Amino acid sequence: MDNAKTIVIALGGNAILQPGQNGTVDEQMENVDSTAEQVAELIAQGHRVVITHGNGPQVGALLIQQEAGRDRVPPMPLDVCGAESQGQIGYMLQQSIGKMLARRSIPRPVATVITQMVVDPNDPAFANPTKPVGPFYSAYYAEQRMKETGEKWIEDAGRGWRRVVPSPDPIRIVEQDAILSLVRTGAIVIANGGGGIPVIEKGGLYKGVEAVIDKDLGGECLARDVGADVLLILTDVAHVALHYKTPHQVDLHTVQLDDLIRYQQEGHFKAGSMGPKVEACRRFVERGGEAAIIAQLDRAVEAIHGNAGTRIVKQ
Ligand code: ADP
Ligand code: MG
Repeated sequence: MDNAKTIVIALGGNAILQPGQNGTVDEQMENVDSTAEQVAELIAQGHRVVITHGNGPQVGALLIQQEAGRDRVPPMPLDVCGAESQGQIGYMLQQSIGKMLARRSIPRPVATVITQMVVDPNDPAFANPTKPVGPFYSAYYAEQRMKETGEKWIEDAGRGWRRVVPSPDPIRIVEQDAILSLVRTGAIVIANGGGGIPVIEKGGLYKGVEAVIDKDLGGECLARDVGADVLLILTDVAHVALHYKTPHQVDLHTVQLDDLIRYQQEGHFKAGSMGPKVEACRRFVERGGEAAIIAQLDRAVEAIHGNAGTRIVKQ
């Protein structure tokens, strides 16, 4: 197929866990199945697909398990929990995509790569941790932890105390060559889950750090590394909008890069949700990507064909 594309798909939180669900394995598998169905359809159409995903709720659950079990087994730090979540979600996607491909009689290997992302130790984010991780605790507990560990905790909108960690900018995927070799063999690769495990490079060696990387910005690095034609960010809204959630809301369909940058400067996209998605799209198209698309989770196939979502292009 001559219009076959290499597509990096970044799956939002709702691809794995829907709001209001408890997070049982059956619930997560069911959600993953409907996403995998779309992925399999794109593969059946001849596209090469690389997948990345968020991990917020899963890492949150792992952190609760570390806490609850700390008297019996040593708790694991955030970078190890990040790696665990990549394995856990990657496994579910492997099962599910494998199943959907088997139903279509498309025998293709599906593999997850535990992925480390290099960050800059001098990134200003390290001086100002802002990203909440894990569950809510009492003020007393937070105070103890701050004293014992030097961690930063904040009171989160009246809901309790939460640990906050830095969210540095992603620079480079350590496993780039491994991911590329797999993609070239025709494998469906799942990589850089949760934005990647943040590591700092020193003399060619890598050390995990207590931080989290935005999954959409990390997804853009992945898209660049595999030479993707399209970055497809799947989330829970149909379109990116101007004046979002106001009476003047305008949904965007096709947007040129220059206009997108102007909308960014005008402050239309919220930090921590749509902001990083739009920024990831901007970077991808600026660096020569053909198109970046933000679309609703169940519209992936239509979005690739130009019939759903918000498409960002250079001209
Ligand atoms: P994900 O888990 O997919 O990363 P997020 O919650 O981080 O999802 O981001 C998607 C959310 O961004 C939407 O549910 C929407 O509420 C919010 N959002 C903020 N600004 C905008 C905007 N300008 N247009 C559309 N959605 C927006
Ligand atoms: Mg998000």
